[in-house]
Amino acid sequence: MFEDKNQDKTSLEQLGEFGLIDHLTRNLKLHHKSTIKGIGDDAAVLDFKDNKTLVSTDLLIEGIHFDLSYMPLKHLGYKAVIVNLSDIYAMNARATQITVSVAVSNRFPLEALEEFYKGIELACELYKIDLVGGDTSSSTTGMIISITALGEAAKEDIVYRSQAKPNDLLVVSGDLGAAYMGLQVLKREKEVFKVNPNNQPDLSAYSYIIERQLKPEARKDIVELLKKLGIKPTSMIDISDGLSSEILHLCKQSEVGCNLYEDKIPLDPTVISACEEFKLDSTLVALSGGEDYELLFTIDQKKFPELKGNPNFTVVGHITEKNEGAHLVSRNNSKIPLTAQGWNSFAKA
Ligand code: ADP
Ligand code: MG
Repeated sequence: MFEDKNQDKTSLEQLGEFGLIDHLTRNLKLHHKSTIKGIGDDAAVLDFKDNKTLVSTDLLIEGIHFDLSYMPLKHLGYKAVIVNLSDIYAMNARATQITVSVAVSNRFPLEALEEFYKGIELACELYKIDLVGGDTSSSTTGMIISITALGEAAKEDIVYRSQAKPNDLLVVSGDLGAAYMGLQVLKREKEVFKVNPNNQPDLSAYSYIIERQLKPEARKDIVELLKKLGIKPTSMIDISDGLSSEILHLCKQSEVGCNLYEDKIPLDPTVISACEEFKLDSTLVALSGGEDYELLFTIDQKKFPELKGNPNFTVVGHITEKNEGAHLVSRNNSKIPLTAQGWNSFAKA
């Protein structure tokens, strides 16, 4: 899992910028008719016909958003694409193209960028995304990545954060908190590794939560499933920063309140056991952990029969009038105000 510094590396100067881009992108295929022109000219040319175009972009800085001592470059490439696709799916749209811009210092050989692009390529293949451009530069310090995702949707299919109504149900896909607990395990192993580099840890008990941290998935399948079930959410957001802060975004933009029920929050058993081991409250981890990339959405109560019993979904609460505020209803039935961090209000409670 931890990278070692190999010899026999190719310096980037040997290839030059154009050779490098050609080399890194040579295996990528185009999947969409909307891509008229991809890499190779001054700009990509796209045609979404009568559909609306969606655009979302993210900036990732080494040392701030990722740590290469436990994030293999292939995983980083994969994850960097996934987090952007997730934003497009959160609009109930189809993700179709990305651009990738990257700056690296001279401590990165060609082989490092090859690994990074292998991850990008895998994500593009699995999610059927066209890489249509980017930019490449050197950096004086670490690695900087910026990815822009594009997507399309019919105007009437697009779901904003702003249309949740009182009495709507609050629903999440999948389970929460695993990516954060995976990060706790990786951080702990990094410290162990510093003390004893020969230690070969057995992390098999943590494989699910580590995978959720290192190789997250975007919920393209949920967008497709909702369409199949005939459900258009009234509002939707992806869970990148933790359930609490995302619920507050929906409530604020929709001008509503909500009740979230603690005992309904979906947790994988391995998250619960890791929380016990790390002496963390699993509710706090789900509320504040982040990086799960699940979808949080609201639906009209009439649509409940359509997703009832479906293992992909959990109804975690309901929307209220704005003046009732946004609350967590705890297991012992007390109402605790939700805050973006979750932690503070809990400390007081
Ligand atoms: P310009 O000089 O106009 O910025 P570049 O030489 O940077 O053009 O890019 C040439 C082509 O390669 C363009 O199509 C650009 O989008 C693409 N490209 C550049 N860097 C990357 C990258 N890191 N990943 C994918 N495509 C890239
Ligand atoms: Mg350029």
